[in-house]
Amino acid sequence: MNEVKGMDEKAGRQTVLIVDDSPVNLQMLGKLLQDEWNVKVATNGKTALQIASSEDPPDLILLDVMMPEIDGYTICRILKASPETKDIPVIFVTAMNQVEDEARGLEMGAIDYIVKPYSAATVKARVRNHMELKSYRDMLKNASRVDGLTNIANRRRFDETIQTEWKRAFRQSEPVSLLMLDIDFFKRYNDTYGHQAGDECLRQIAMTLAMNLKRPGDLAARYGGEEFACVLPGVGPAGALKIAQRIHAAVRGLAMPHEDSDAAVIVTASIGVATMMPAGNEGWDKLVERADKALYQAKQEGRDRVVVFEKE
Ligand code: GH3
Ligand code: MG
Ligand code: MG
Repeated sequence: MNEVKGMDEKAGRQTVLIVDDSPVNLQMLGKLLQDEWNVKVATNGKTALQIASSEDPPDLILLDVMMPEIDGYTICRILKASPETKDIPVIFVTAMNQVEDEARGLEMGAIDYIVKPYSAATVKARVRNHMELKSYRDMLKNASRVDGLTNIANRRRFDETIQTEWKRAFRQSEPVSLLMLDIDFFKRYNDTYGHQAGDECLRQIAMTLAMNLKRPGDLAARYGGEEFACVLPGVGPAGALKIAQRIHAAVRGLAMPHEDSDAAVIVTASIGVATMMPAGNEGWDKLVERADKALYQAKQEGRDRVVVFEKE
């Protein structure tokens, strides 16, 4: 039994990954926990690490210490060393009950220790406690990545997303496109209609961006002030231009009066577009730089337009 088995997946539930080389142990723990949580299992360290770093990582890992090939301590150390998996709480499950083993496990970054033979009630209670803490941490993490004014992703989330998508695109040899959008004469908008109206305008634009991105991997973010960014993984130059034009038109479509703008009588935006195939030697900051240059050019050429980055 080397493969992974998902038992009774239910949406919205938290997921526990049980790692144990003994199928009997897996089944016992699985039976115990499957009423309250989604359960995934792995019979070896390699599979456990694969599941932990997958797109759909578990919320908690119950990790057997004594396993052939890679032992639990080593798995825990690898998990804690990677930014992608370090926040997944690990509980060691082991027959060893010497104090120094427990200390060693905790030093490795595990949050708890369950010693076999265990009582069903104790295991459930501990898992429940740690799952509750995990969901609070997830909530805080999410809140810290949302822009308070517009409710779309903030700069931090943008930075995280473009970094992960860039790496993924590199692995899969796919392009990444980026749109940078800046509202035209927005200082004058504030001066004319007041800061409150300015805030409302930012909310409308944010919503327009979010509504015009269709793929699950797309991200609309508030980049700063009155500047927004859209990350489009797997989208090439033609697709990016199309989306930029759609957004540009949708902003105009809001038809928000802006009588002091030199670009139009309504609120308009300038959009810079760039597309790159990630290569080993260039980082995602290059993509931001190019989209920024295109945006600057859009401003220079009179605003209220889409400009695609062509060359340095
Ligand atoms: P341009 O067409 O060249 O982009 O001109 P602009 O006036 O839009 O650009 P500038 O960078 O000179 O001004 C940006 C303005 O955006 C100034 C600032 O007051 C406003 N702004 C930034 N953040 C907020 C915000 O959270 N709320 C409101 N209401 N205004 C904001
Ligand atoms: Mg502006
Ligand atoms: Mg600006």
